[in-house]
Amino acid sequence: MRLFKFIFSILILGSCLLVPATAQDEKDHTHLRRDMVARQIKGRGIKDKSVLSAMETVPRHAFVPPGKKAAAYEDRPLAIGFGQTISQPYIVALMTELLKLDKSARVLEVGTGSGYQAAILAMTAKEVYSIEIVQPLHQRSSKVLEKLGYRNIFTTHGDGYYGWEPYGPYDAIIVTCASEFVPPPLIRQLKPGGRMCIPVGPPFKVQHLVLIEKGKNTELTTTIIGSVRFVPLVRDIN
Ligand code: SAH
Repeated sequence: MRLFKFIFSILILGSCLLVPATAQDEKDHTHLRRDMVARQIKGRGIKDKSVLSAMETVPRHAFVPPGKKAAAYEDRPLAIGFGQTISQPYIVALMTELLKLDKSARVLEVGTGSGYQAAILAMTAKEVYSIEIVQPLHQRSSKVLEKLGYRNIFTTHGDGYYGWEPYGPYDAIIVTCASEFVPPPLIRQLKPGGRMCIPVGPPFKVQHLVLIEKGKNTELTTTIIGSVRFVPLVRDIN
């Protein structure tokens, strides 16, 4: 009987300790996120209100591996396994702002990775279609997004070079891995009046972040936004 009482009191004590710790974690993360937006995002000139609000809301720490949660709001990319990374928060915000999304927009993302960028897009657009070539990353990010309750993100496993034709054409396309050239299927799946943001350049070197605008008559305008370093777009499905 004594032993039961002892175990019971340990369990009660344990749960008392656990609940406030979790609430405190959430408070800490909210604070870190506000700070991230103020310094890294607003501080560098991002103005779009819906992008700022998404960056303040989406729990970035839920998308990074368990051992890296403490670094989730730092000003840098982080490794997510399989040689891949979750992009620096500023780059996520910049690329999202460049797409000029609204609540009627349907967006294609190439490179789901952690799922974080897809979550930011889901808060600023109507629907997000995201493709990932690494099967375990596809499975992991799909689970995280489902658990967090995003209902307007659709994910698939495949080579995003070909886009995701059945749901196209899209109002916007974002490519979160670097390609030596802009994949022609993605140009075809961009609506007239649509915008695409893509890092173009050699693998593992500095690349150009490029904005492509498709005019009403399908003419293309290309603007180089700046220099970036993304993991390469690969073609072998695994
Ligand atoms: N948007 C992601 C960034 C992930 S890094 C995030 O928010 O976390 C880029 C991702 O692109 C990697 O997960 C990589 O596996 C994926 N990728 C590379 N080549 C691809 C291709 N051809 N099709 C789809 N995904 C690709």
